[in-house]
Amino acid sequence: ARPTAAGPGEDARAATIDWAAVRADFPLLQRKVHGKPLVYFDSANTSQKPATVIEAVDDFYRRHNANVSRAVHQLGSEATEAYEGARGRLARFINARPDDLVLTSGTTFAINLVAYSWALPRLKAGDAILLTRMEHHANIVPWQLVAERTGARIDVVDLLPDGSLDIDMLHAKMTGAVKLLAVGHVSNVLGTVNPVADICREARRRGITTVVDGSQALPHRPVDVAAIGCDFYALTGHKMCAPTGTGALWARREHLEAMPPFIGGGEMIKEVRLDGGTVFNDPPRKFEAGTPNIAGFVGMGAAVDYLSALDMHNVEAREQELLAHLVEEFAKIEGLRIFGTAPGKAAVVSFAIEGVHSHDLATLLDLEGMAVRSGQHCAHPLLQWLGVSATCRASLAFYNTHDEIEAFIAALRKVRTLLA
Ligand code: PLP
Repeated sequence: ARPTAAGPGEDARAATIDWAAVRADFPLLQRKVHGKPLVYFDSANTSQKPATVIEAVDDFYRRHNANVSRAVHQLGSEATEAYEGARGRLARFINARPDDLVLTSGTTFAINLVAYSWALPRLKAGDAILLTRMEHHANIVPWQLVAERTGARIDVVDLLPDGSLDIDMLHAKMTGAVKLLAVGHVSNVLGTVNPVADICREARRRGITTVVDGSQALPHRPVDVAAIGCDFYALTGHKMCAPTGTGALWARREHLEAMPPFIGGGEMIKEVRLDGGTVFNDPPRKFEAGTPNIAGFVGMGAAVDYLSALDMHNVEAREQELLAHLVEEFAKIEGLRIFGTAPGKAAVVSFAIEGVHSHDLATLLDLEGMAVRSGQHCAHPLLQWLGVSATCRASLAFYNTHDEIEAFIAALRKVRTLLA
C-alpha cells in the first residue's frame, strides 16, 4: 500500500491512506492463532514486519550477501552500499547526519555504549545520575553498573498520579551534582510522552548531559533529534518494523570524538600495531567492531522507507484514533483500571481487571487469538510505584483496526466471565 498525495492538514493527510491496504502489507497479520484470527496488540514488545522488509532481507541473502567494508569484489561493494544506505536512511528519518549514527544491536547496546564509553570514564563519587520512575530496565541497569563502579549515586524523579513526569521535582533534582539525565521519550508501560525537548533544554542550561531512550517513540511519531536537543538518542529497530538485532545510537559529534571505543575488534580500527600504536577508526565506525547485522540493517533501511512513505504524522494520527476507541471501550468495562492517563499519551494501554490476575487474563485471551503482554514489562520500579505485581498491556500500531478493538473487547468480556 502506498499513500496518495498528502493534503494540506493532518486530517487531510490521514484520510489519503488506505489503512486496510497497509494492513495487508503485513503477511503475519493474516494468520490464525488457536483457530481464531490473530489480534496482535503487542507491538510495544516487537512490531510485525511488512513484506518489503522481509523481501529486502531475503533479497540480500539471495543476491548480494558479502561482508561490509572489507572485500574489493562486486558483492562486497553492494553489501557495503546497502548497509551504509540503511545508515543514511535512518539518519534522514531522525534528522541527523549519517556519521553521527552508531549502528548497534538495539537500544540496550546503545545505552550501554554511553554508559561504558561516556559515563564510566567521567563520573566519580559525589556525582549523580538522574533517572525517572518510568524507565525500562535498559535505561536503569547500565546506570546502576556505572554508579557501582564510580561511586556516583542514582536519583529518581517521580510521577504524577496520571503517569506524567513530575516536572517540578525534575527541575528541583537537577542540582550541580547531576552529570547525566537518562529519560525515556515514551513509556513502554504508561504510554506517557515526555516533553523531551523542554527537559533537554533545561538540562543543557545546567550543564547536564542527556540520554533519551527513543525505543517507544520512533515507531509511532515523527522524531527530530536536532529539535529535541539531547546529547544521546538511543533507538531500536525491531519495534519500528525492522528486523531484530538492529538499532542505533545518535550522539553529538563532540561526544563521539571524545569517547573511547567500547568494544574492540575488526572494522573499528585504521591500523593495528602490536607495539601499542593501534589507531582507531573515525566515529561512528570506531564503535562498530566486528561484522555487523548487515541483512538486518538492509531490512532496517526498507522499514524506514516504508514508514517514511506512510509519513509518521499519519502513523501517529491513526494510532491516536485507535487509542481513543480502545480507551472508550475500556471505560465501559466495570472494574477495569488503566495505568497511565497522561494527556497526549501514546497507544500503549496497561490495565488490570479487579479480582483477575493479568497472566490468567493474557493466557485466556491468547486462546481467543489475542496477543497482549502481561507482567512487569521490564519496568520493576514503575510497577512497584503503581503498587501492582503485574499488568496486562495492549499496545497498538497503525496496522491494527477498529474491528480488532471490537473483537478484543468482546473477548475480554467473555474471558472475564470465565475468570469471575
Ligand atoms: N527501552 C524501552 C522503553 C523499551 O520498551 C525497550 C524494549 O522493550 C527497550 C528500551 C530495550 O530495547 P531492546 O531490547 O530492543 O534493546
